[in-house]
Amino acid sequence: MREYLNLQEKVDAEFERLSTKHHSEINCSSGCHDCCAPELSVTRVEADQIKRFLLDDPALVVSLKQLATQDPHRGTRCTLLNEEGLCSIYEARPVVCRSHGAPVLVQIDEKREGIDACPKNFKRGMNMLEVGDWINIETLNTMTALIDWRYALDEGREKPDPEIDRVSLTVEALLS
Ligand code: SF4
Repeated sequence: MREYLNLQEKVDAEFERLSTKHHSEINCSSGCHDCCAPELSVTRVEADQIKRFLLDDPALVVSLKQLATQDPHRGTRCTLLNEEGLCSIYEARPVVCRSHGAPVLVQIDEKREGIDACPKNFKRGMNMLEVGDWINIETLNTMTALIDWRYALDEGREKPDPEIDRVSLTVEALLS
């Protein structure tokens, strides 16, 4: 869905801006997968985009099935992370994965927000951040939920519940 791809592009552009501006503080590199936690989930529009990506690459589907059987990270990482520590669906990874490593604005409770980042980044603290030098996770979740709602309407489905109507970010769920 075009709106979802636009959102992916915006998050990528924001990550690029932040990593350029704070290049000395962001240590993300290929092979680091601390953010790739198990049991993440995504909206249906995100899951369907990954499924379409997999449809175009039968060889990748075969290797994902092998990966799920081998479970090289023993359940400690996302099942889409290969044995070399690389994302098997990197080009189609969901928006939450595209924000990994950047400073993020998160809701701590009903009244408070806070800035968080991977402990490997911003080791000297985050005082150098200027207003807006973060990805607002609440806004990102809201935009993703709205796009997922629109996607459901286009398919003649009910409005999805963003908390319940989610798909596991696992090989099994994406190949089912
Ligand atoms: S989809 Fe890829 S980037 Fe996202 S958590 Fe899984 S392995 Fe990591």
